[in-house]
Amino acid sequence: MAKLFIVPTPIGNLEDITLRALNVLKAADLILCEDTRTTKNLLQHYEIEGKRCMAYHIFNEHEQVGNYIRQIQQVATAALVSDAGTPGISDPGFLLVREALKQEVEVECLPGPTAFVPALVQSGFPCSSFYFHGFLPHKKGKETLLKRFAEMEETVVFYESPHRLLKTLEKMSEIMGPDRPVAVAKELTKIHEFTFRGTLAEALQHFGSQPVKGEFVLIV
Ligand code: SAM
Repeated sequence: MAKLFIVPTPIGNLEDITLRALNVLKAADLILCEDTRTTKNLLQHYEIEGKRCMAYHIFNEHEQVGNYIRQIQQVATAALVSDAGTPGISDPGFLLVREALKQEVEVECLPGPTAFVPALVQSGFPCSSFYFHGFLPHKKGKETLLKRFAEMEETVVFYESPHRLLKTLEKMSEIMGPDRPVAVAKELTKIHEFTFRGTLAEALQHFGSQPVKGEFVLIV
């Protein structure tokens, strides 16, 4: 019977891949990739050759999900990978998993890299109970959501793009007050990794004084 493995891949440092993830990729008859070029580079790095890779991303996931489930049903082992981290976490994955389960394809997600866990744990904020949101909506709904976050007792973790970081920090400061403690994890596992810890006012001062580049996780 066909089995679909969800395989987490490094979020920067190529050493962050498990032995099991490599073995599953080596054994896979079919690999669905967010970007086949990115995955081929990863496979090449680990000397995994001759794999059948197909593109599965936000622009084709709705139309291709049925087709890919049929293809998975014809092989023993298939894998889904995204460009970085765990598929399904702010990346395509959910639709495929739901459809696979509906069609009685066994699904197994390997434990592995994802950006929000190290960001949360090293933030210094309580992590016994937290709320993860992925990306905030760009316009409509952003303010309402930040107001909801402001009222939560749990630590809140979310993803933000470099282009919107300052605007989001400004809005947070407006809604939550400039003294609210925040952590901003930048470029986890990469050369320029840095975690800012301070108030929203200090974060605005820090990130406002230089060009904002890189990947970010916010914890508040
Ligand atoms: N699937 C990924 C995961 O499991 O974390 C998330 C993919 S999502 C498209 C990309 C966002 O995740 C980035 O914009 C950033 O907010 C966060 N992210 C991914 N890698 C990161 C890193 N190395 N450092 C900080 N944030 C990262």
